[in-house]
Amino acid sequence: MQLPKEEKTFVMVKPDGVQKGLIGEIIKRFEQRDLKIVALQMFQASLEEVDGHYPKDEKWIRRLGEKTLATYEKSGRNIDDVEKDFGTTDLAKVGVTVRGWLITYVASSPMVKMVVQGVHAVDMVRKLVGPTMPSLAEVGTIRGDYSTDSAISANVEKRAVFNLAHASETPEEAAHEIEYWFGKQPIFTYKRFGVDA
Ligand code: ADP
Ligand code: MG
Repeated sequence: MQLPKEEKTFVMVKPDGVQKGLIGEIIKRFEQRDLKIVALQMFQASLEEVDGHYPKDEKWIRRLGEKTLATYEKSGRNIDDVEKDFGTTDLAKVGVTVRGWLITYVASSPMVKMVVQGVHAVDMVRKLVGPTMPSLAEVGTIRGDYSTDSAISANVEKRAVFNLAHASETPEEAAHEIEYWFGKQPIFTYKRFGVDA
């Protein structure tokens, strides 16, 4: 029987997580919170595959641009600095640029993909991973403990923020991403000792 609010979510250890030797640490963080790994694989995605993974709708792209401006403002910079670094103040265009950097980065090197299952798995995993920008991620989260990248340097260097892992943000995103990355591969069923009835 499924526990109430038992969910599956999708996680990818990004290239920097793999290269820093954090695959085991990241999985451990989930397992120690009684979340269950039900599918797991190392892989390298093509640019086309990564392009299909990240949403293309205007709302999501604009949100990336808005997040960029918000990060600038949190560190005492403003829209003029966004214009200097991105050549535009149009946040939708900023979002398109960031999305492009992200795709190049994520496809650049091997990653580890997994499906994580448990009670409130989507929110629980996001909480364990921590917020997008490393400087805002609390100590105790994966990003807060291990990612030291600066969003400002990333944007000046015209690249994505290296923040170790991707995790689905909503149950809808999780369902889409699990189907996208594991559609043709098995998702396993087993009982966690002392956790599952
Ligand atoms: P999250 O990974 O926390 O769900 P988003 O979905 O908003 O964050 O963004 C996807 C990824 O894009 C982030 O994890 C990060 O690597 C990258 N990213 C987001 N905003 C920026 C930015 N302003 N500059 C560079 N990279 C960014
Ligand atoms: Mg996201």
